[in-house]
Amino acid sequence: MDIHEYQAKKILEEHGIKIPTGAISYSPEQAVYRAHEIGGKTWLVKAQVHAGGRGKAGGVKVCHSESEVLEAADDMFGRKLITHQTGGMGKGIYRVYVEGAVEIEKELYLGFVLDRSTQRIMLVTSGEGGMEIEEISEKKPQSIVRCEVEPAVGLREFQAREIAFELGIDSSLVQQLQKTLMGCYSAFRTLDATMLEINPLAITKDKSIIALDAKMTFDDNALFRHPKIAELRDKSQEDPRERNAADRGLNYVGLTGEIGCIVNGAGLAMATMDTIKLAGGEPANFLDIGGGATPERVTKAFKLILSDERVKVILVNIFAGINRCDWVAQGVVDAMENLDFTHPVVVRLAGTNVKEGKEIIKKSKQPIIQADDLMEAATKSVQIWQNL
Ligand code: ADP
Ligand code: MG
Repeated sequence: MDIHEYQAKKILEEHGIKIPTGAISYSPEQAVYRAHEIGGKTWLVKAQVHAGGRGKAGGVKVCHSESEVLEAADDMFGRKLITHQTGGMGKGIYRVYVEGAVEIEKELYLGFVLDRSTQRIMLVTSGEGGMEIEEISEKKPQSIVRCEVEPAVGLREFQAREIAFELGIDSSLVQQLQKTLMGCYSAFRTLDATMLEINPLAITKDKSIIALDAKMTFDDNALFRHPKIAELRDKSQEDPRERNAADRGLNYVGLTGEIGCIVNGAGLAMATMDTIKLAGGEPANFLDIGGGATPERVTKAFKLILSDERVKVILVNIFAGINRCDWVAQGVVDAMENLDFTHPVVVRLAGTNVKEGKEIIKKSKQPIIQADDLMEAATKSVQIWQNL
């Protein structure tokens, strides 16, 4: 689960990390009021969306007067922000964070991630903050300093000092950096985060180390023991199709094409998406209905696919091992009889009880287009869509 910048900053502050004075607002007028409360002469108005890269996309604005704050916030509220991390549909802006500007001397990058290969928390830092880590690793890979944390003892002070040394931090700032790193580690560990990123972590002109941005992601499977974190969920930032699927126990990722896919198994679902592209089409989604799919489950999958207005053709691709083609076929027929839709449906069945499955489809007299292999199914789906 992702949270907003202002929420992550509050958590970090509770763990001893310095953050600029800031306040959340839910309307442009409130943003002005908040700027007034914060005081000073320069503020940043920052769109709160679950994505990075806001600065380059117009989601972070520097304002020098209260009327500029009003204008910046007015421009943000209610609109969708598209950054390189949001995907084409963007994320809605319903809250903006107003923050006092600080005078930056240097920007650092600081990230904590779960490294699956070593099964440890890995600290990643660089003296080239402000850029995204992907860009840093492409353009300045030698600037990246990594450090693995031994889980039994946690992050040690000497490791934090070593990082400060490798980043070339002035000796007067080492203790502050150490406090920041230890605080982040403690927040990450105690709250079951899977990612924590401060980019930039700034060294200010008056020599303090302060988090100007913050991103945290938490392990969904551990949320039950962190009710305060679970409360920070903001469903407005989630793809409604994916939220719907998760509520129904289906494994779904929304995309932007026109061919809706119902497939069993993640590998086959990926292959199906590839084959649709190869045939000249675009998949509308990734959907793995899993093993042992009952007719009811197949109907649920249809409902989900049909809730996406972009979908024009539905492709069902089942390679039944644990699954049974007759159950899936029955599910497809049930969906066509009971749900109100006119989308063409292409079905490819293979594996367990395939004969029975095909027979059910034939007998149903529903206008289902059958295919014997994936290439044929994908080609037929794309041709039908092109001729609609
Ligand atoms: P994003 O990473 O989504 O673009 P950031 O919060 O990192 O958004 O803001 C973009 C840039 O704006 C930062 O790299 C930093 O240079 C500047 N910035 C952000 N907050 C402040 C602040 N409080 N004072 C001064 N500069 C800031
Ligand atoms: Mg940033």
